[in-house]
Amino acid sequence: MGPNRGMRAHDYAARRERMVQQQIVARGIRDERVIEAMRRVPRHLFVPEDRRHLAYEDRPLPIGEGQTISQPYIVAYMTAALQLKGDEKVLEIGTGSGYQTAILSLLARWVYSIERYASLAERARRRLAELGYRNVSIRVGDGSAGWPEEAPFDAILMTAAPPTIPLPLRQQLADGGRLVGPVGNRYDQMLIRLTRKGKQWVQEQLVPVIFVPMVGRHAWAEDQDDEWPGVSSFQE
Ligand code: SAH
Repeated sequence: MGPNRGMRAHDYAARRERMVQQQIVARGIRDERVIEAMRRVPRHLFVPEDRRHLAYEDRPLPIGEGQTISQPYIVAYMTAALQLKGDEKVLEIGTGSGYQTAILSLLARWVYSIERYASLAERARRRLAELGYRNVSIRVGDGSAGWPEEAPFDAILMTAAPPTIPLPLRQQLADGGRLVGPVGNRYDQMLIRLTRKGKQWVQEQLVPVIFVPMVGRHAWAEDQDDEWPGVSSFQE
């Protein structure tokens, strides 16, 4: 038996509540809907079984294919930055474990999520269906090209870092829509928020972060993939 021995659903619930208080509320996340979503989604069911005991720790975790699930605080911070009210059509680039997708699905009308690795997309799709998250569509492919058939989007979340914001994503943002995500090189990324106002895009710099690279036609080239650190967390 591994480190999960004896862990029951209510133990995870207690850890989750502590995570929300210590990592989310105490650090200044104010959006009540975001806090409630972080309270509801069972994060331990989105991490590999042998890491479940670490699911509510203040850190990212490996999820396979050299990718990571972001630390809880960054998920809450990025979600709050999207300023969702509940009726939005949201695009996510980088489904990964599906955890961030689940959070978004509680806060918007529909979530479209794109993942480059079929293995991760398949696992996420199954988990989300099992847990009853219905307003989600997942596609395997290159998210740097967006999802043109479903555009425009009221909100776009990138959970992998391109060198610059991919042009198709700018174009698929609705008027008044927000795009949030990390942009920069492998050592030095900034979380940015881009708000579309008609033919203008207003950019704000939020905080420094480290994410895995976005690999695709409008992002980094495939062969640069290996050089990146496999983490996604805030630099404090
Ligand atoms: N939101 C995820 C975080 C996953 S890490 C979670 O909550 O678990 C970022 C993910 O982006 C990885 O799974 C990686 O494979 C994916 N990715 C990188 N480039 C991509 C691209 N061009 N299109 C779609 N997914 C991409």
